Amino acid sequence: MDANKEALLIIDYTNDFVADDGALTCGKPGQEIEDYIVNLADNMKENAFIYLPTDIHVKDDPFHPETKLFPIHNQENTWGRELYGKLAPWYQANKSNTVQLMDKTRYSSFAGTNLDILLRERHVDTVHLVGVCSDICVLHTAVDAYNLGYKIVIHEKGIATFTDNGQEWSLNHFKNSLGATIKE
Ligand code: ZN
Repeated sequence: MDANKEALLIIDYTNDFVADDGALTCGKPGQEIEDYIVNLADNMKENAFIYLPTDIHVKDDPFHPETKLFPIHNQENTWGRELYGKLAPWYQANKSNTVQLMDKTRYSSFAGTNLDILLRERHVDTVHLVGVCSDICVLHTAVDAYNLGYKIVIHEKGIATFTDNGQEWSLNHFKNSLGATIKE
């Protein structure tokens, strides 16, 4: 099998983070990136590994730091944790050895998951990031990717967050502090 050097991470693109009535939604900015993400996934699926690191939480977990910070979101087997919009049928049609949903419990897709070892086994050296929220889970994933030595590509039209300020700050940070390539 050919060495495959790239992966696309679609982060937290669920109803709770994106839909109008999601529990922790970034709303319209999150909804506006739907087509970009699905088209990108479609274009990359033949030549890249695609992972969908997705929050999973337990209600009122006294040991989880987010319990105090946010309303419960992305509970297992709820509508809120289902992938948002067109990404849901896209995932059902394409899930495979190279297109996989992945549970995560922290902001970073690398924290407490086997993502790093999966990427290393597959000789991936570049991670493309899309999803939400730019300044929380995408940011923390990018910071860990940076520290682990991956090249980072941020798709500006494929990430979103609650505020314009947060979006602008995170794009600057990806570019100037993490050395990411920003795809416009
Ligand atoms: Zn969370």
